[in-house]
Amino acid sequence: MARVLLTGGSVLDVRAGARTRADVLLDGNRIARIGRPGELGASVDAPRVSIDGQTILPGFSNNHVHVGWSGMGWDGGPTGILRDEALYDSDGINGIKAAANLRKSLRVGLTALRDLGMRMSAVDAKEALRRGLIKGPRLFIAGKAIMCTGGHTWWCGREADGADEVRTAVREQVKLGADHIKVIANERTPQYTVDELRAAADEAHRLGRRITAHASIREAIRNVVEAGFDSIEHGGPVDDDVLAQMVERRIMVVPTFSPRLLQTERGPARGMPAEVAAARRRQAEQSPPGAFLRRMREAGVKFAFGTDAGSPCVPHDEIMAEMEALLRYEAVTTPLDVIQMLTIHSAELRGDADRLGTVEEGKLADLVVVDGNPLTDVRVLGKVRHVFVDGEHLVEDGELRDWYPW
Ligand SMILES: [Zn+2]
Repeated sequence: MARVLLTGGSVLDVRAGARTRADVLLDGNRIARIGRPGELGASVDAPRVSIDGQTILPGFSNNHVHVGWSGMGWDGGPTGILRDEALYDSDGINGIKAAANLRKSLRVGLTALRDLGMRMSAVDAKEALRRGLIKGPRLFIAGKAIMCTGGHTWWCGREADGADEVRTAVREQVKLGADHIKVIANERTPQYTVDELRAAADEAHRLGRRITAHASIREAIRNVVEAGFDSIEHGGPVDDDVLAQMVERRIMVVPTFSPRLLQTERGPARGMPAEVAAARRRQAEQSPPGAFLRRMREAGVKFAFGTDAGSPCVPHDEIMAEMEALLRYEAVTTPLDVIQMLTIHSAELRGDADRLGTVEEGKLADLVVVDGNPLTDVRVLGKVRHVFVDGEHLVEDGELRDWYPW
């Protein structure tokens, strides 16, 4: 694979929050050298990409996506358009949606997606990426999400009840190629017993997979922490003793402001009933979102970035709304916090920080180049000029490249 020299830009050290002028040489799928401005120029025979005034960051990750959901509209029902998409769309339509969503994700700088389940769409998308049928971010998949019979989003997952069947469900996902396991722990009330959750966590760990839970209410968060889960999706209120365990066991949280935020804002124009929108606005005024996240952050819990992309009104290329909401609701306090969620924390969440998540010599060349300094203005993260995945230059000057050899 080709060598490329990025010249005239700065490299962002996402751990230290330091931005330093440097040139970067990519060789194949690796970051080969990082040198002072001009240092590599004379000795390196490689095509140059001039990025004056721009900043090189590790590629971004969205850690809560559903690649098979379009994120387009709202059908007015209690679950929006999702249930219909899941129940009635053919596998072909789901595949086309996934392909479109991978392209949209690339354009905004996402070089890794952590899919949390929707029938077989992510399994098929991962296979299509492996075969080179499409290009896209790295895709880490859960197979199907696991829930109790009739549980939250039962229409797109694997229903399983009792410890034995839950174990079988975990094994099935691993057989399908799951990189991690996702369990639904609650809707309005807890939907699994601690015994069932413990069986899921034990089985996942025995098979070398991390396990995460949809957990957004106090009792469910207590249950999944007690059962040994590795991370929590959405999050919610927690008791002091549970919070202390989360900190001690480094259980990360993937907050997701986007569905509530974007559905309230855009839903009415896309078919969401006005009374649902009004109820959401009232809810937001009464209990500002993010209070529980502030408490977790102050206690020392780490967050990774996620939008729940594919949910109604949350398209896969809309990530700036989430970044701004994280700051507005004080889940985090600085643009660097957001950058860490998008990069190094994401790698830590997956367990691959030895290969990804920072711009360092020897690491995989998953990079984003943005126009400006994102440490002083988070919106700079939306000004994506170049994206490299595994050393391949897939977004050039803000445009997706035509990468097909035929
Ligand atoms: Zn989700």
